[in-house]
Amino acid sequence: MLEKEKGYKDSKDVKGYQDLPPMTMTIESSLPIHTGPWRTFRAVIIQDKCNKCFMCWRCCPEPCIEFKGLDEFPEVNYDYCKGCGICANECPKKAIEMVLEEQE
Ligand code: SF4
Ligand code: SF4
Repeated sequence: MLEKEKGYKDSKDVKGYQDLPPMTMTIESSLPIHTGPWRTFRAVIIQDKCNKCFMCWRCCPEPCIEFKGLDEFPEVNYDYCKGCGICANECPKKAIEMVLEEQE
């Protein structure tokens, strides 16, 4: 939530990065950071339920969901999947399960 009293704009008024408050960020690729070890739960694709809609690919923040082709199932790159669960939450077919690492 942006804080108006500090002079920050309401989020609906943010038109570009110039309107954002100062924050820690990187201006280079995050690929050197292997975020996989951060994970407690891993995202597992259930192919029987998947309709290849690409929603998980669009919403993964790393991004570590890959499609080898337009008619292929998504694959998770576990070097980078940090287990945030956004893909599982957004998947319209409930085709992604978050599985505790030790239960694989
Ligand atoms: S969002 Fe779900 S249904 Fe769509 S491609 Fe990803 S796993 Fe498959
Ligand atoms: S759990 Fe998070 S990091 Fe892992 S594939 Fe899903 S959206 Fe990406």
